[in-house]
Amino acid sequence: MSAHILVLGGTAEARELAAALLAGRPGTWVTSSLAGRVTRPGPLEGEVRVGGFGGAEGLAAWLREHRVDAVVDATHPFAASITRNAALAATATGVPLVVLRRPGWRPAPGDRWHRVSSPADAAELLPRLGRRVLLTTGRLGLAAYARLDGLHFVVRSVEPPAPPTPPDMDVVLARGPFTESDETALLRAHRIDVLVTKDSGGAATAAKLTAARRLGLPVVVLRRPPLPDGVTAVPDLPSALRRLDSRLDG
Ligand code: NAP
Repeated sequence: MSAHILVLGGTAEARELAAALLAGRPGTWVTSSLAGRVTRPGPLEGEVRVGGFGGAEGLAAWLREHRVDAVVDATHPFAASITRNAALAATATGVPLVVLRRPGWRPAPGDRWHRVSSPADAAELLPRLGRRVLLTTGRLGLAAYARLDGLHFVVRSVEPPAPPTPPDMDVVLARGPFTESDETALLRAHRIDVLVTKDSGGAATAAKLTAARRLGLPVVVLRRPPLPDGVTAVPDLPSALRRLDSRLDG
């Protein structure tokens, strides 16, 4: 197969997919696309482009201009705008689209999860769950917690949090993967009462959930945004490769 494949990335599975395509399909040309949010992204095989396309129309124009044969959206489950734009651009251009989404996390016996649909709902719930909060939802989107005066927040993110941020906040800069003992030590060191996480799924950041379970802590879990209408996702790399083959053949 000789084809130009655009991988919308920013995740470990996007990186693995680019490597698998290049290793397993001689002649395949892979471009990985990153939003440019982190200053030091990990190494990536193949061509790399960085920065937004300019909405769905910009992405559609890019697909045409660069003669893309298929797009794989392997972005993070919470990156809803690029996923919507990819679906619109694929429809507009007729370029096949494969969406790779790692499955969400499932609670295990002993878990005390509270699922919420937005940071505002999480902020409303938190004062009833504890006073010291570990927030692991990323450096953006912290405005909902900015007026929670009575709570102490520990924000863990790869890069420094962007304001507005909670008034009483410590920042822990770190990039996963994390082990259960790392997470238990962090929860204990900061005397955390409650954890807040996105339902990101995947193994790299799941240890915080096991650590919270062991310590009997409640966890506020932000639900994923829905996929665009008519879009279905595959859960892992082998199924993404199979779906890509069938889309390119069809
Ligand atoms: P988003 O809200 O869906 O995207 C916002 C805008 O950023 C998009 O409209 C697009 O700009 C641009 N963009 C996003 N991903 C892109 C990509 N892979 N290549 C080129 N442009 C991209 O996304 P986000 O939540 O800010 O996430 C940004 C990136 O970080 C994603 O690639 C995602 O995989 C990664 N990431 C996100 C999270 C998270 O929790 N959201 C966590 C880990 C990694 P234009 O409209 O101008 O094209």
